[in-house]
Amino acid sequence: MRKKIVAGNWKMHKNATQTTELLNELIAQIPAETTAQVIVAPTFVNLSSAVENLKFSNIAVAAQNVHQAESGAFTGEISADMLTSIGVNTVILGHSERRAIFNESDALIANKVDTALKHEMTVIFCFGEELKDRQSKNHFNIVENQLKDGLFHIEAKDWSNVVLAYEPVWAIGTGETASPEQAQDMHEFIRETVRKAFGSDIAEDVTILYGGSVKPDNAKEIFSKPDVDGGLIGGAALNAKDFVAIVTAI
Ligand code: PEP
Repeated sequence: MRKKIVAGNWKMHKNATQTTELLNELIAQIPAETTAQVIVAPTFVNLSSAVENLKFSNIAVAAQNVHQAESGAFTGEISADMLTSIGVNTVILGHSERRAIFNESDALIANKVDTALKHEMTVIFCFGEELKDRQSKNHFNIVENQLKDGLFHIEAKDWSNVVLAYEPVWAIGTGETASPEQAQDMHEFIRETVRKAFGSDIAEDVTILYGGSVKPDNAKEIFSKPDVDGGLIGGAALNAKDFVAIVTAI
């Protein structure tokens, strides 16, 4: 079912105390009448306390990554079972920082998608072109290939557990935002690509978030586009006032 979602990716920010402080501010400040699904993704070590703090709220908790294996000798890694066992049922996969800094390939991300779906987790699947791809007008191709290679092997029934997050790499953490028209053009293309492969029902149902320097002053215009169903927010998710303003913009 297509939803409005605003998700905050906290990356490697906020220690335990700061996590609790920010969550308490969000609980207090997000208006009760908010219809959008709000999700926060603190660091692994703070997920348990986040789940506990948010248990009487409508804010859901996501992990920022998961390992593809069920368990084993993978020092420093976290499994899907570990996440679901503490009540974390959503995971961000394919983020551009994981792709670029940690060399995650489409094939690896596809494996992680399978593992997460097997555990009935919701996957927020991130993808998007780099600046050079847009400059060479190859951005639609890149986005289509990332979708096909990382995600399109899943079964039709699994789409209800997938949220797409189009995040042009040149707009992440740069202060540079895709214009609302650029975002809409790409989101329309993504929905059409899903439609061709999986049919209209799935394409109309899938939630497509935009990510890349969404701030309180540009959120409303971006979210007003028909194929933009919300946002994946980085920097502005670290500050309650800004994040709440983005949530209310939807
Ligand atoms: C992100 O990292 O997913 C992101 C969108 O970051 P920012 O909002 O800071 O550009």
